Amino acid sequence: MYKKRNFIKIVSLSFFSLLLAPYKFAFSEIKKIINKNLTKKQKEIMFNEGTERAFTSKLLNEKRKGFYLCANCGAKLFSSEAKFDSGTGWPSFSEALPGAFKTKIDYSFGMKRIEYHCANCGAHHGHVFLDGPTATGKRFCNNGLCLLFVPET
Ligand SMILES: [Zn+2]
Repeated sequence: MYKKRNFIKIVSLSFFSLLLAPYKFAFSEIKKIINKNLTKKQKEIMFNEGTERAFTSKLLNEKRKGFYLCANCGAKLFSSEAKFDSGTGWPSFSEALPGAFKTKIDYSFGMKRIEYHCANCGAHHGHVFLDGPTATGKRFCNNGLCLLFVPET
């Protein structure tokens, strides 16, 4: 009797996980290319977790007031207020706008890093480190190619 009940439990559990599988897939893989004009390099960074070469971003020296948007979907990600010069060679920010990103732990290259994705389109943007120089303690290290700067008018 006991064994039979256990068997039913296992069968119903696997039935449930089968039922949930497509939803799990849909929610974890919402990455989608919205901007059809993305370059090959941009796609490689945003959808294949690539990284641009350090000190190549035109945004490194951008000091105007404005907002940084996702180059794929146009979501507002950072305010210029949060930008600072980290000396790392990538545009750096002390905080993101509320709800802009989702994070996940990245174990590639033998390191444990926190990777972040645009909450709207799922595109990879960079990594956040906990050694920031300002009160937030955070340093968002963002690939410049994933950002679109819109100056305040
Ligand atoms: Zn996006």
